[in-house]
Amino acid sequence: MRLAVSFAAIAAALALVSCSTSASAQRPVRTQQPRAAYPVRVAPTRPAAMPASPYVPPRATALRRDAQFEPVTVLGSRFGLSFSWLDAEHRRFALQNRTQRLEFELDSRECEICGLRVFLGEPVRLVRGVPALSRTDLDLFVTPIVRPGYGAPRLRAVHTIVIDPGHGGRDTGKVNSRLHLMEKTLTLDTAKRVKRLLEASGFRVVLTRTSDRYVGLADRPEVAERCHADLFVSIHFNSVVTGADRVTGVETFTMTPQGQLSTDGESDQFTNIYNPGNANDYWNTVLGACLHRSVLGELRTPDRGLKRGRLAVLRLAQCPATLIESGYLSNDTEARRLALPQVRERIAEAIVNGIKAYAADVEAVRRR
Ligand SMILES: [Zn+2]
Repeated sequence: MRLAVSFAAIAAALALVSCSTSASAQRPVRTQQPRAAYPVRVAPTRPAAMPASPYVPPRATALRRDAQFEPVTVLGSRFGLSFSWLDAEHRRFALQNRTQRLEFELDSRECEICGLRVFLGEPVRLVRGVPALSRTDLDLFVTPIVRPGYGAPRLRAVHTIVIDPGHGGRDTGKVNSRLHLMEKTLTLDTAKRVKRLLEASGFRVVLTRTSDRYVGLADRPEVAERCHADLFVSIHFNSVVTGADRVTGVETFTMTPQGQLSTDGESDQFTNIYNPGNANDYWNTVLGACLHRSVLGELRTPDRGLKRGRLAVLRLAQCPATLIESGYLSNDTEARRLALPQVRERIAEAIVNGIKAYAADVEAVRRR
């Protein structure tokens, strides 16, 4: 059942049911544990069906219970989006206009924004009976996807691009031994294709490695810093241990904003620290979304999501940065495709198109 109602009506209606969410309000604050520098990344799968009634909120995934939240009405008025509930239980809702649609679910970090599967830093909550997003998510994650450039800091035009082929040398990255495939080989090949295509379009391109050699994680963003790069793209391929026969698709990471949890839901030693990569929280999102959309559209594989992570190359990047995992080597069918040069050429073209879309967004803000 879909109901189109005014925000005032939502507030009134939800005030009646907000008592049913008091359990979630009493969830304990997650204790911050010191962890390894680079948390293990997971690829949560889309739930098969809506939660059965009675609804049980998931375990707490928010770090800061006192984080500032804004009602989704802010997005509604900012972008001319109208609100509607998507289910009779009033858990899922949409904001949409004629060209754009956003879908959220209460107590969930997973949502869909303009066709992309996205993982917020904080779950959607009811605040005084109205669905609300954390201000960080609203301004630095949702807004840059819905309207790239809205409220954005001005950047210089994109000229120098650093492409980072993941792994190398003694670090093979993910391996599919059945098909004799190593991630480090595929990332380097794809990066070289991206370089050729970008240079043909007039960009200056620097690779963090041009051969099969080991490059430390911290050294990679340093390459970008040395050549005054305008953006940094790290290219990887993915793998899972369990469910390898069914897990395929593309996922893209950007730096987690200060104070938020990464998509894996765990705190790390950098959670409350302002890292260099946080200087570009807004444009990181635009870049990640542009690449994610472009590569997904080209490969037409499952959307594993636009996610947040404090991965070293993103954490230390001084320019807008993203890391894309363009397929799973652990899945033999997908790995066979990734082994084809023509498929890697298509991935490279899609990455280049994503970068061009990002550069156009930067340029549009500059021309204002
Ligand atoms: Zn990798």
